Amino acid sequence: MRIGKFLYFGDFLVIPVAVLLFAWAAYAAGGAAAIPEWGASLVFGAALWTLVEYLIHRYAYHHAPILAPLHDAHHKEPLAFLGVPSFVSSGLILAVCYLPLRPYAPVLAAGFTSGVMLGYAAYMFVHHATHHFKIEPGDWLYEARLRHMTHHYREGVNFGVSTGFWDRVFGTLAARRERTAADV
Ligand SMILES: [Zn+2]
Ligand SMILES: [Zn+2]
Repeated sequence: MRIGKFLYFGDFLVIPVAVLLFAWAAYAAGGAAAIPEWGASLVFGAALWTLVEYLIHRYAYHHAPILAPLHDAHHKEPLAFLGVPSFVSSGLILAVCYLPLRPYAPVLAAGFTSGVMLGYAAYMFVHHATHHFKIEPGDWLYEARLRHMTHHYREGVNFGVSTGFWDRVFGTLAARRERTAADV
């Protein structure tokens, strides 16, 4: 959906604030002794996000009834500010990750949700950068840019935006951008 710049970039404001609040909540629940559990849950959440990102992009954004036309608009107009408003994405992560876990494991819930949110923010940043930043060979995002541009030009490859790891695992990695006949 076409959204204003404030909502488009809202994640970069909402997520750091949420992560700080979750760190505070974890500390309130377990004190300094909770730091290892919080840290491990955060790393696990961020790692799991990369798989979720791959699966959502491959199956939901490219095949699901309502989402596929919305994502198709991004494929047709890659520079437009299209996306999910931050209150929807963060609200969804909160509802799916934090709320069900919190009653049983508050520290784990806080760390895990923070990790997922940071993974999502990294995905948003890398995706925006691959389309809008001037990225030259040798720059740290150059691989990500090549990989994602290939996704825009070829069907069925490179669904991972923040990492190519899951494309390698599931056999959908196309290492180099190969132009198609339609690409002029
Ligand atoms: Zn796509
Ligand atoms: Zn894109």
